[in-house]
Amino acid sequence: MSDAARKVIALAIAIVGAVLLWAPWRTNTDAQEAKSNMDATIASARELTSSSDPRLKGAYSFERGGWVYVHLEGDPNAVGFQHGYLLATEIEDAFPAVSANMMRNTGRDWPFFRQVAREQLWPKLDPEYQQELQGIAEGLNARTGSQLDVYDIVALNSFEEVPDYYVPWLDKQQKKPNAPNLKSPGNCSAFVATGSWTKDRKIVIAHNNWTNYMNGERWRIIFDIQPTHGYRILMDGFPGVIASDDDFGINSDGLMVTETTITQFEGWDPNGKPEFMRARKAMQYAGSIDEYTRIMLDGNNGGYANDWLLGDRKTGEIAQLELGLKAYKLWRTKDGVFSGSNWARDPKVLKLDTPKFDPNDVSSSPNARRVRWEQLLNENKGNIDVALAQQLLGDHVDTYDKKTEPNERTICGHLDNNPRGISIWGWGAYYPGGAVQGKATDSAMTEKMQFVARMGHPCGDNFAAKPFLAAHPEFAWQAPYLRDMNAGPWTFFNAAEASPVKD
Ligand SMILES: [Zn+2]
Repeated sequence: MSDAARKVIALAIAIVGAVLLWAPWRTNTDAQEAKSNMDATIASARELTSSSDPRLKGAYSFERGGWVYVHLEGDPNAVGFQHGYLLATEIEDAFPAVSANMMRNTGRDWPFFRQVAREQLWPKLDPEYQQELQGIAEGLNARTGSQLDVYDIVALNSFEEVPDYYVPWLDKQQKKPNAPNLKSPGNCSAFVATGSWTKDRKIVIAHNNWTNYMNGERWRIIFDIQPTHGYRILMDGFPGVIASDDDFGINSDGLMVTETTITQFEGWDPNGKPEFMRARKAMQYAGSIDEYTRIMLDGNNGGYANDWLLGDRKTGEIAQLELGLKAYKLWRTKDGVFSGSNWARDPKVLKLDTPKFDPNDVSSSPNARRVRWEQLLNENKGNIDVALAQQLLGDHVDTYDKKTEPNERTICGHLDNNPRGISIWGWGAYYPGGAVQGKATDSAMTEKMQFVARMGHPCGDNFAAKPFLAAHPEFAWQAPYLRDMNAGPWTFFNAAEASPVKD
């Protein structure tokens, strides 16, 4: 921190402290308010006084419950600049971990991913997202002098679609000998419920993110984005990435969004638009289920193909958009529930887009969790609320072995102790992956732009990297990146917080 910043903070403490001392008539609440104002001043001073770039106006960040909350606002370049600047440390930490994994899995070097970013992805991005991505690179550079440029940032944004969707397609096109056996990921457990299923008959939506722990312990950003155009967004996300990417978010027009990935999906359209842009655009501009669907379908490239679970708090309607490439299907209801655990169900999508997926194998992770969701949601019909959703996201019942134990078949997945792995995702024995964080909200909270989120396994268990690496030398290559993943508390976030509060 610069001397100037220290002086500002010292001055802020002196001023607010003085008000507290000299105002004996103040009530406790007033004192608490003054204290939180003081914290706010410290937090904003901490972030902003070291740069005079006008693009930082209005931006702030703070940490709470293991999460980093960032408020970004303004035109696309300013939103990007603030993102790169405020999250510079997190981006510089995440980039080596993500890129190492991309290169190792695909057998392709980093210049390959930069070339894909420059030649294939960049030209298909809307100008406003080009400006935002450019802003991220500029903000990052302004904060740390980072050498990462905009194509590194675009390649980072594509980490869920280029390695596991584009590269297998390309390997096939090029008839590449000894191509790696890449498999599309199967990430996440989620549900959305409405009508007679929920306690207040309005919408409840919840999601836990499944991925490798290395990425998962870095998936700890809460983005509050107030763009010049479109709706305000509150979503979880990954440092440097413009979409939520594990995809949980709400917008100020009342749209509620999450997804789970379609297991064993195959396909890519080189003429399509990047999924990370479509997902971000839909979160920013869709005020209805129809608009959301239209944006996701416009230039669908097949990348990171998901079953989208949607809610519209204005109408109480929920939907499931199973977005294959050759086929897709939209279900919707004002009284029902949709759950997701990485299985496709539309016969056409199953046949055309996931030809290898077996929907009848109840021992597989997606299908065993599907059975468990049906049990849990039916048992709790009429009682579903956000508090219950938090509990369900941490559930450890294995419906196949009929026992309670966290493993690859439970809603809250833990694979690091599991000799079976998940072969249909390419996760081998003892793969350090599983459920890495969870989020939940309902219609009333969405109206106020609020959700709850927990970092780490949603059940509250911790993962320790050192003993794991000692027991599993086959994952030694992850040693520079793999860290302990300790669960934080369920934590409340509210985009209406006018100023940063430091815990
Ligand atoms: Zn768990």
